[in-house]
Amino acid sequence: MTITNSQELLKRSLLRAANALVIPLVLISLTYYFSSKMVVTQKVLLDLAYYVPYLFLLPAAGLAWRFNRSRAFFIALLFAAAHFLLNEPVLAGVKIESSIAALFLSYLVPFNLALLVFLKERGIFTRHGLIRFSLFIFQALLVVSLVYWDQDMTIKILAYPLISESILKSSPVPHGAIVVSFISIVYLFTDLLQHPSSLAASKAGILVLFLLAMMNIDQSLSGVLLFSVTGILIVLALVQDSYFMAYHDQLTGMPGRRALDEQLLKLGGKYVLVMVDIDYFKKFNDRFGHDVGDQVLRFIAVKLESIAGGGKVFRYGGEEFTILFPGKTTWDVESHLKVTHEMISNSRFYVRDRSRPKDVPDESSQPTNRKLRKVKITVSMGVAEKSDDHANPGDVMKQADQALYRAKNKGRNRIST
Ligand code: GH3
Ligand code: MG
Ligand code: MG
Repeated sequence: MTITNSQELLKRSLLRAANALVIPLVLISLTYYFSSKMVVTQKVLLDLAYYVPYLFLLPAAGLAWRFNRSRAFFIALLFAAAHFLLNEPVLAGVKIESSIAALFLSYLVPFNLALLVFLKERGIFTRHGLIRFSLFIFQALLVVSLVYWDQDMTIKILAYPLISESILKSSPVPHGAIVVSFISIVYLFTDLLQHPSSLAASKAGILVLFLLAMMNIDQSLSGVLLFSVTGILIVLALVQDSYFMAYHDQLTGMPGRRALDEQLLKLGGKYVLVMVDIDYFKKFNDRFGHDVGDQVLRFIAVKLESIAGGGKVFRYGGEEFTILFPGKTTWDVESHLKVTHEMISNSRFYVRDRSRPKDVPDESSQPTNRKLRKVKITVSMGVAEKSDDHANPGDVMKQADQALYRAKNKGRNRIST
């Protein structure tokens, strides 16, 4: 169990979450700005515009299906259905107060967005996917039965004013739905911080878009524009997340081998390449288990990433990392490597020791089975730089590997050039 580097991990999550929010925020602001400017009066154009959101939402669903991202798939379908129910009556000139669909959707869309995030990623045409389809159908049936049961009463309950009029002057979105949206948005942001990704950020953005669409429901083009942007946000998030996954290692979140290979192709002048390998990692895995081994990899990754001197860190594979210093010589980076190397060997990794209780026959007299054990972890480093003799990245890498081999042979926990 790591304790020491949780702060660094939190910082990294925050950074990625903030990064993922940039595109949704820019798109939402632009859309909102233009939606208030655009006025179309020709009936033909309005009728045509009504179909535009499907041009984005249906391909978004298709892409999500191909990428096997069930949440994105169901969100695209949810919004296609919401657009169908909401904007058709609006275009026909029906106002929101009389549109019972708008009343229900202002509750159901935020609720379902949060529900889909809560239910996690479990496939589309699977048993779990079927459950999600059934949940939608169940809600549709519930709406129909409520309307048949007592339409006036249903409207009265859903539109019940919870918030005093002095605080909230005539809102087109019912107060109950504002409360549901608020809870949902807090939940979506919590999820974004826990699992930062473009899709997580887009879900929060999509909810904001939906609320804007509901507030401007009497402006017919607004809805069309905002629902189209929902489709665009889903597609962008799917592509961005796939790109991120291709270039980043899943376990540590740092750039992986593919990113390193591309960086090496781009290098012009001098550079230093360092191969880093955790010492006796196999023994560690055998003793504490593979999961604790994974935590050690994250622990070391964060420590390496704190290196100064412009070093970029990559997970090369297994328990090996590569640090690349573009534009530097060995002389430039030696002191930085030393600092990081010492910081790793001086730090301690905390493990909940599982092997202990086995040695202790009477557990009640020995509360040590939850004891934290401090473990020292060390790494060996092999350093090489570009030179006339070793001009191409493959050769420099080979040199770094040989230097690493020397560091291991000399007894590990050291830097060799
Ligand atoms: P040395 O000091 O010579 O480097 O010894 P070592 O035990 O670290 O080296 P060796 O190459 O024999 O073992 C590497 C081990 O790393 C083997 C494998 O079980 C483990 N390993 C590789 N990738 C992962 C991973 O993603 N997670 C975990 N937990 N273990 C991994
Ligand atoms: Mg190794
Ligand atoms: Mg090793």
